[in-house]
Parts: sequence; C-alpha cells; structure tokens
Amino acid sequence: PVIDVDSWHQGVCRFCGTGCGIKIGMSDGKVVDVKGDPAAHNRGRLCIKGILNREILYVEDRALYPMIRKNGELERASWEEAMELIASRFSQSIQNSGPDSVAFYGSGQLFTEESYSANKLFKAGIGTNNVDGNPRLCMASAAVGYTSVFGKDEPMGCYEDTDHADCFFVTGSNMAECHPIVWERLQDRKRSNPDTFLIVVDPRKTRTAEHADLFLQIKPGTDVALYNSMIYEFYRRGLVDLEMIEDYLSFQSGSNSITEEQFRSHLEKYTPERAASVCGISAEQIREAAFRFGNSPATMSFWTMGLNQQIQGTAANRLVMAMHLLTGQIGRPGATPFSLTGQPNAGGGVRDTGSLAHALPNGRLVANPKHRKEMEELWNVPEGTISPNPGHHAISLFQAMNSGDVECALIMSTNPIQSLPNILPYRDAMENAFVVVADAFHPTETTKYADVVLPAAMWAEKGGVFSQSERRYHYVPNLVEPKGEARSDFDIIIDLADRLGHGDLFPNRTQADIWEEWRKISAHSTYNFEGITYERLKNQPGILWPCPDEDHPGTCRRYVPGEDPLVKDEDARLDFYGRPDGRALIYLHEQGEPYENQNEKFPLLLTTGRVLEHWHTETITRRVDDLKNIKTDFLEVHPADAARYGLQDGDDVRVASRRGDAEFVTRITDDIREGLVFATFHSAKHLVNKVTSDAVDPFSRQPDYKRCAVSIEKA
Ligand code: SF4
Repeated sequence: PVIDVDSWHQGVCRFCGTGCGIKIGMSDGKVVDVKGDPAAHNRGRLCIKGILNREILYVEDRALYPMIRKNGELERASWEEAMELIASRFSQSIQNSGPDSVAFYGSGQLFTEESYSANKLFKAGIGTNNVDGNPRLCMASAAVGYTSVFGKDEPMGCYEDTDHADCFFVTGSNMAECHPIVWERLQDRKRSNPDTFLIVVDPRKTRTAEHADLFLQIKPGTDVALYNSMIYEFYRRGLVDLEMIEDYLSFQSGSNSITEEQFRSHLEKYTPERAASVCGISAEQIREAAFRFGNSPATMSFWTMGLNQQIQGTAANRLVMAMHLLTGQIGRPGATPFSLTGQPNAGGGVRDTGSLAHALPNGRLVANPKHRKEMEELWNVPEGTISPNPGHHAISLFQAMNSGDVECALIMSTNPIQSLPNILPYRDAMENAFVVVADAFHPTETTKYADVVLPAAMWAEKGGVFSQSERRYHYVPNLVEPKGEARSDFDIIIDLADRLGHGDLFPNRTQADIWEEWRKISAHSTYNFEGITYERLKNQPGILWPCPDEDHPGTCRRYVPGEDPLVKDEDARLDFYGRPDGRALIYLHEQGEPYENQNEKFPLLLTTGRVLEHWHTETITRRVDDLKNIKTDFLEVHPADAARYGLQDGDDVRVASRRGDAEFVTRITDDIREGLVFATFHSAKHLVNKVTSDAVDPFSRQPDYKRCAVSIEKA
C-alpha cells in the first residue's frame, strides 16, 4: 500500500554502531515510514533492522508505568512513589555505607547527554566512580588499545577510507551480519575496483568470510600469534616503513621502554611455521596475508568483538594497530586501523564522556590527580569531590552486588542478566542488592529481578545525540509522545539528582543545555567538538570530531596535517599529539595460554556471536512480527563432532561448561572449525551466558565470550 507521509525528518537508526542516517516519515503524529538517508554515509541503504525502526515503536510488551516489588511481586506504582523509594534507598546506603555502596550501570544505547549526566551525578555529586556499563562488554579492549598506542581513544580513520583501500584486513568481525551497511560500502569498493583484496580472519566461515580472497580460519584465541607472525614477515620481506619507525614510533614491553632490536628479537619465536601450528592454519597463508597487507597501496583493517572479547583483547588491538604503524599503512586515504563499535552510542556516549569506572571525560583518568582537578574545575565542584579510587568495572560491580559491597544500583537501557557472561551468580547479585531498572520493555531477564522498574522512552519518543564508529556525532529527533507513562532516561537522572540533593549540578535542565555544557568542556581536550551545535546536527547527517569551531566541517582523518585542526606541526607526516612525545607505541605481546583448559570432561570450545536480523538480547527485535520467526536457538556443530557425539541436524543438544549448561538445536555445518561450537547470545530461552566465562582481559577488564571449554550431548 502507498503510505501517506506528511513530513520527513532526519534521524539515525536506533541499532548498531554503523549509525545509518535515516529519514523518518510522519503522519497524524505517528511514525509511518522509515527509509535510508541518501545524504548520509550509508548512501540511502538500511539493513533489515534499520528498515524496522518504525515497527519497534509500536510493538507490544512495553513497560508502561513504574512498578515496585512488594511481597515478591512487581506492582504498579506512581512515579512519585517509585522515585521517592529509590531516593530514600540510595540516600540510606550512602549515609550508612558511603558513596561506594551505590552504582550506575549504563549503556551504549543511551544518548550522550544521558550518559554524561549520569556520570556527572555519580562522580561529581554522589562521589563514587561506580559508573560502568555494557560498553565494558564490547569495546573496552579497543578503547585501551587506542589510548595506550596513540594516547587517546577512538579510531583515527573514517568510513570514507573504505572507498580508497586496496586491501581489507577483517579480523574478528562478522561485519556482513553485524555491521552490514559498512560491509556494503566495502563491497562497493570491491565492485568498482575488482583487484581489491579481502583477507578475513575468523574461526567460523561467516557470511563475511564467504567473500574472502584469503580466509584464515584460525583457532579461537590465537590471533596474537598470527599478528606477531605477520609482523615477523613484514621485517623479513622489507615491508616495514623505516621513516615511520625513525620519526614516529617507540617500542614498549609492559611499562618499560625497549629498543626496536629487542622487539625484533621477540618476533623470532613467531616464524610462520611456528605460528601456523598455534593458529591451525598454513604458514603459506600467513606469508600471503602479511605480503598483501604490507605491500598494498592502502590497507584498511576492520575488527570488533572477535578481537575485543577475549582475555588478550588489548594485546590483539595493540598488535593490529602496530601492523599499520610498522608498515606505514596509516594516515592516508584507505590506510588505517578501524575498530567497529557494537552499539549506537558506546563511543561518543560512554567512552568519550568517561562514563566508565576508571575514566573521566575526554580521556581523563580518575587515578590521575591532575585530571580530577581539571574536571572538578570544569564541573564547578570543590577540589577533592571526585574520588581517587576507580570504581567497579562491569563484572566486579555485579560481584560487589553479590557480596553486599554495592547495596543499590541503577541500571539503564541494558539487559545485563542476559548479556553478562557466567550469568547465574549475577542473578543472585540482583536479588541481594536494591536494583532499579529503567527499560522500554518488560519483562526482560533483568526487569524480572528488579526491585523497581521504570518505564523508559525509546528512539523517537525522545531526542538526543548518538555517535557511531567513526567519531561522528548525529542527532535523533523527538517526534512522538512516549508510550504509557514512560519518561526519558535523561528526565529520570535529573529527577534522581534533585531528590538526592545534587540538582545544583544541573542548573539548566534540558538536554540541549547539557549538550552545550558538554561541547564546551570538550574544547579543553583533544576531543574538541565545540563547533558541533544542536542546530548543525539537526540540519545535516552528523559531523566527525575534532571540530573546534562552528565553521569547521569536521575531521575525516585524525592526526593528519591538513585534515586534523589539532595537529601542531603542519610539515610533519603525522602528529600523534595524544602522546607526550608525539610518538605512537608499539607493544610487545606474547601469545598467552587459555584461561581454562579443555579436558576429557570439556573437550570442545564454545564461541558466541550474533545474526543479522536480531539485536543483542532480542528485547526489541523478537517482538517485531517480521523477525520473530528468525531462529536464534541453534548450536553450530562441525559434522565430525556431530558424528562423534551422535547428533543429527535439528536434535536438541545440551552444551555445558564448568559454570552451567543451556539447550539448543543442533545445526550441523562445516562452516565451523572441528572442535568448536557456536551459539548466539540473542535468545533468553536458550541462555548461552549460563555457559560462558567471566574471565577478563587484565588491562581492559573486558570478558572473554569467544572461547570457553565445553561438552555437548543430546538433550
Ligand atoms: Fe541500523 Fe546498523 Fe542496520 Fe545501519 S547497519 S540500518 S545502523 S542496524
């Protein structure tokens, strides 16, 4: 049927970190149509989730009014009753047990203004750094990688680099399903330039890997050996950029400086033959990958959870960055390392606002006295207000709720009791603490355990700023009234601030005021986006920072003279101004051992991921008619393993680890390595996170979802 549209409005897709621009069609006060914005980076394209942005507004099972748990049951309450209860429980805990007895657990799906305000309330008001969120589960290793190598977080390249690359190195990313519109842009480049070479590294033959010119189907958790070996080959074949090393790089092992010679001698252990036996691929494949990467006119790397969600996530990130730095595949169109962000606003919303337990805005750290003082001045609070102690990161926060150290928590726009790894103990954590959950939907695995549920407005029922993978800020308009009694997360945060006696932190009460404050604060940093006003964002599909004034068009390539306005030396080839000496760091990392071993009882490995059609814990997408029949209940099993365990395609299968078990339906495929099984984390009914491990990377504290020892048997 032809849809009558009264007006079209510029917006942004609500789902993944690709951040596609959309046009939203309105009629009679309702969203009636959605289409891709041809002026945005996605060139008018949307994936199936993006197309269904309209439907998500009108699905059933929305949380419609506040609820308070009484005698074990959630019962309808007024906003006043719910907020008073929350304020009194939080105040009581703070008074009796100190500010570190309360916590905020946020999300890369909140607007920037919301994450910024919650961070300010807890760190500059209440006085605790117990502020973390689901970006810890997805992007923390990339953030630590960038910060330690370049001095500042966030990628230096942009989507436009895709149009110039001659070689793509896609490692630990099923971007054809998880970032499908960036993938389409990569395919555009391949179609227009058929010599473009695609290398894919993944233990599964994903939809991405099906298109590879060279597919390295490595064993999970062995990519540090692979990258070391590729660097070994760069040196052996003369593919390193000597000018880069001389003028722009330093070498590091742990916290110690080392020489380039020491770095090179450690590589001797990673000949392609030795690395091949660790990774389970051939030495020839490693040689070819290294040659293609180093010899191409321009190489662009993409990565995401496959790199980040492992106990060597930081090491893997640093080494991919090192591969670009050592070969000079950096700072030119098409030559760049580029991490893909999972959620629509994990980068600009959470990482850049410093809404993490160790962080303060714009790359500052709570452990650094100078950084605390700077933020106390910018926030206009007395010196000494910000605690010097880093708060609890995601996993330790839920452990602290379990032990009683954290007594009250506010969880917003996320579903941790499905998305955290090793979920069973964290259900107890929810029961032990006083937990408030603000969500647009009920029930979810998390609201089921909440003491108070607050109905939250969602996309287009509230407006605000999202970011995405390439440092672009862009604006989501508020077009419709929230359903039921729902309120925006921003309103809830401000209401709580008032009730806790910290309303003075927010002298101006609107999100527009908060954006003004935040963009002005950014001017005191190398994340400068003072020139990105609401007005500009409402009239164009986003701007990439740095953007220091309102006439600046934004920056495609950071650290590059002539492009980045923060570069000081215009005659330099690059200016890594985030580092005190302007030199990026090459880190030495050895391939580590697994955190748990396979044995007779748990002889296989489990890895987890996503499918194109569903979003994270399916809270939204499972409720959409067009998607509700898309299967996410399967366990991929190699035919040899299926034969070994007597499984047929479609059999019910139980997968168990040292922590718990879950049931799935067998899907037999040789797309997966023998000895490895795969499940998505989408399904609440088939909860794979009862099985996964909460072992974390020692630097980023990001958990390892990609490799745990399991058994399988017919259920
Ligand atoms: Fe939305 Fe991501 Fe799909 Fe783009 S690729 S339409 S941002 S889900």
